[in-house]
Amino acid sequence: MRKPFIAGNWKMNKTVKEAVSLVKELQDKVKNVNDVEIGVCTPAIDLVSVKEVVADSVIKLGAQNMHWEIEGAYTGEISGPMLAEMDIDYVILGHSERREYFGETDWDISRKVKAALKNDLIPIICVGETLKERKKEQTESKVKLQVEAALSGLCDEDVKKVVIAYEPIWAIGTGESATPEEANRVIKHIRQVIKAMYSAIADEVRIQYGGSVKPHNVEEIMKQEDIDGALVGGASLDAESFSQLVLKTQQIYAG
Ligand code: PEP
Repeated sequence: MRKPFIAGNWKMNKTVKEAVSLVKELQDKVKNVNDVEIGVCTPAIDLVSVKEVVADSVIKLGAQNMHWEIEGAYTGEISGPMLAEMDIDYVILGHSERREYFGETDWDISRKVKAALKNDLIPIICVGETLKERKKEQTESKVKLQVEAALSGLCDEDVKKVVIAYEPIWAIGTGESATPEEANRVIKHIRQVIKAMYSAIADEVRIQYGGSVKPHNVEEIMKQEDIDGALVGGASLDAESFSQLVLKTQQIYAG
């Protein structure tokens, strides 16, 4: 069975002091959770201090981006070996904000996925359609292309580790979530795409939903058969709301 995974994407929020305080508060609220994997993906500057706090806890740690090269003249970037040395668990790759504001392409993301895996980092690969694409009924074809590009050229062992986050762009930060059924339908389709590429292990890959997941809608979303967790923006910036997402998911999985 796939273990559900709730990950927070803090984006460009929280100074080091704020990050430490948030994660301490969160740690206390989720300390007894066993059935849900919990991660926080912080700004790069917060990673070292947050790592010290969560080192022996149930909370795992992720970055929000990395370069595909291991070192070099890439001002402002961080590399896989830099994250690996700090024992970081995950890295978000291909978030729609990176694609939109920083021009990241499927080709960039494919190189980053390979670099992450080479450095023992679990990539959380974001895919999803714009509102315009949704209206034109291009959701399935869009996510198919993104998934195929991100996962091409990997081995079964690596694909098993990867996490996919289906994030309809129109639902991110808007308060307007996909219906649970709609999210489930697209996630099922994503698994079929993975199956066509890596049939032996496709059922082991975790696929999250992301897009305005909040305490009031998390249960309906997590009850869907094919949804294995959530990537959460806004609601991850507050210990009470993020812990609610984790605890409500735990209740569903615990029976
Ligand atoms: C995100 O940015 O990945 C996200 C899902 O944000 P929000 O939960 O705020 O919609």
